[in-house]
Amino acid sequence: MKRSSYLDWDTYFMSIAFLTAQRSKDPKTQVGACIVNTDNKIVGVGYNGMPTGCSDDQLPWCREGDTVYDTKYAYVCHAEMNAVLNKNSADVKGCTIYVTLFPCNECTKIVIQSGIRKIVYFSKKGSDSPIHKASVRMLELAGISFRQFIPKEDKFVIDFNVYPDVQYNSSKSTSNGEKMVQMDLILATAGFDYMIRLWSPHNATCFKKLGHRDSQVNKLDISTDGKHLVAAGHQQIRVYDLASPSPYPSMTYDKLNKNVTSVGFQSLKQWIFTGGEDGLVCIWDIRTAACQRKLKLPSPVNSVALHPDQTVLFVGQENTSCSYWDLRHDKEIVIHKNPTKEGSVQSVAVNNIASQLCAIDNKGLLRLWDIKELAKPKSITSEQCHPTRGLKCTFSPDCATIATTSADTTAKLWTIEDEGIVLDKTFSTPDQKWVWDAVFSTDSQFLFTASSDGTVRLWDSQVTSTPKQEYAAHQKAVVSIAFWDREAQNLYSKDNGSES
Ligand SMILES: [Zn+2]
Repeated sequence: MKRSSYLDWDTYFMSIAFLTAQRSKDPKTQVGACIVNTDNKIVGVGYNGMPTGCSDDQLPWCREGDTVYDTKYAYVCHAEMNAVLNKNSADVKGCTIYVTLFPCNECTKIVIQSGIRKIVYFSKKGSDSPIHKASVRMLELAGISFRQFIPKEDKFVIDFNVYPDVQYNSSKSTSNGEKMVQMDLILATAGFDYMIRLWSPHNATCFKKLGHRDSQVNKLDISTDGKHLVAAGHQQIRVYDLASPSPYPSMTYDKLNKNVTSVGFQSLKQWIFTGGEDGLVCIWDIRTAACQRKLKLPSPVNSVALHPDQTVLFVGQENTSCSYWDLRHDKEIVIHKNPTKEGSVQSVAVNNIASQLCAIDNKGLLRLWDIKELAKPKSITSEQCHPTRGLKCTFSPDCATIATTSADTTAKLWTIEDEGIVLDKTFSTPDQKWVWDAVFSTDSQFLFTASSDGTVRLWDSQVTSTPKQEYAAHQKAVVSIAFWDREAQNLYSKDNGSES
């Protein structure tokens, strides 16, 4: 079927005029012009600049001086003049000229004398000036039509990210994907701009981009061995081979419904778990991409966390309940349910030694349970951590701290004590907006946060005032972070069980 969102001629030619204007070195005003013949073929383009052979560096660009000799006005050739003189046809008789600014009186003379019959302009800035009035006077006498271009959209973006195999040619990036396998730390970030970025956490260098066309990314995870990344999006999950130079997924699982909200690798990388808005928690065979097992729940699944022994999945649901799926006995066991009073569960997390479980809801309330005896979870506390929507809760690797994030623009650190939790730090910046995700560093001393302003921040748990590092390149909200540390493989090995 034919694409319907293609550019119409008017928008196309005016966009060429705008693009051409970007060649101008004038610090104040950049003007572009594009001349088109009656066959809709471009026969000339131009922008305002110094005459050929006259160095841009030796003539003035300022607007004021002792005399005109010291200003740009004595020297600059306007875009319309250049477009006419640059023509690649015998003449421009009968043509239309697209200009970003209504022509001055001098350019109007050139337009008339060259035989151009129509002017399409974008802005009529300065329409009260005598110069502008002189232009109109001449155009009317000469019978040249002029009309303003009214854009249908306020923006037309040229996005070089369309082909993710092409990397930025800046000193801050490298196209060497092979370099990945030697890395000791990988920070992966993604969200609503359809792009997964891989960063070197220490210097905030984005060293690789992975295209995630057609879908936002809701959740990321990196395999325990650091070789694969999984991204959950709309109706599918995609697995990327991090050792490969290719920016495209090595495997796509597309038999999912609605948004997939949770995803993660089993530690031995035999399977992947997902949870989604369709109320399903699924286990996918990593080699065949087939769904091995599924659990159907009555409401959308917002969060899934894997028990360190790999035999239990904790599930937080939209209907406010928090439960777990015992994979050995294939049973769902409800830990907490109170649908009338409480908010939906947004995030669940289990600590590294499987002694505690926490869940935060969309009213900012955090619940903490003792799950040393999983069959008999004991409530430790429930704490109003944020005044509004909670988005994420997670334990530090040393199990001493919980981080919570919220739509209230903050991330908070809570010290875990016997009777409950105590606020330790609040991380906030004026720009941060919603804080969607948080991940601790392996030593539990630093926290990465992802926010609606497209920026990921690294906070030192000893310093609250400003982030230690910022990772800013995303065009839209960042909602998920995955962090991999070679050290963590040894420190917090999850490989103590693999039955399923
Ligand atoms: Zn002019």
